[in-house]
Amino acid sequence: MYFDTHVHLDEFEAEESTEAVIARAQEAGVNRMLAMGGNPEANRLAVELAGRYPGILYAAVGLDRDQASHSPDLADSASLAGSSGVRAIGEIGLDYHYHPETVAAQRKLFEAMLELARKCGLPVMIHSREAEEDTLALLRAYAQTLSDPSRAGALHCFTGSRRMAKALLDLGFYISFSGILTFPRAIELQEVSNYVPEDRLLIETDCPYLAPVPHRGKRNEPAYVIRVAEKLAELRGKTREEMARITTANACTLLNIE
Ligand SMILES: [Zn+2]
Repeated sequence: MYFDTHVHLDEFEAEESTEAVIARAQEAGVNRMLAMGGNPEANRLAVELAGRYPGILYAAVGLDRDQASHSPDLADSASLAGSSGVRAIGEIGLDYHYHPETVAAQRKLFEAMLELARKCGLPVMIHSREAEEDTLALLRAYAQTLSDPSRAGALHCFTGSRRMAKALLDLGFYISFSGILTFPRAIELQEVSNYVPEDRLLIETDCPYLAPVPHRGKRNEPAYVIRVAEKLAELRGKTREEMARITTANACTLLNIE
């Protein structure tokens, strides 16, 4: 059984029914997924799907960096965070690559989301691009306020340095690898992945983006998370079944799922 810890099911809707995507995932053995929020519509869909697929789909709610520019509705995420099936606040974080003009507003929103997670006792699913130092500074301050930093959260779609990985691990965070790990030129990232201890590894697709090899360039979907597990298995000299078991157990621990 595989656990895809980062899916954007709201981005599929126009093209194909969510039911079909989830059915294909289950057929492939991907029996658990964390549906990401990040804006009011995505949050509502994630909560709704978690209600429709109990034990299979869990929800994350929050406001991502795209929301920083237009006076975000913090109360909305706060009220949804208490819904059943919500197991994380996400995705949230900083992106200085796509949104250099809103850096200050992004930091403010990120801090508000971390505060919401702390209040709700939920782990955070973090996006960070070209913002390593600020991400670390805010996560360091956040982790210090937690009674149980082992459930602080995860850095999703990790592509950072070994130094960044170490800093996050020291704070108690998990590290989640996506299909990028399967790209032939991702040698450095593959080396960093070997450095992450077994009990802190997660896998994800970040679908519909970033399809792993051999689906690269096509639309990604949860069923393909198996390719990420296979790559980790190859790098670590394990079987993909072992990697499935390890990463699923880790996701369940972090997200408080039996
Ligand atoms: Zn994402």
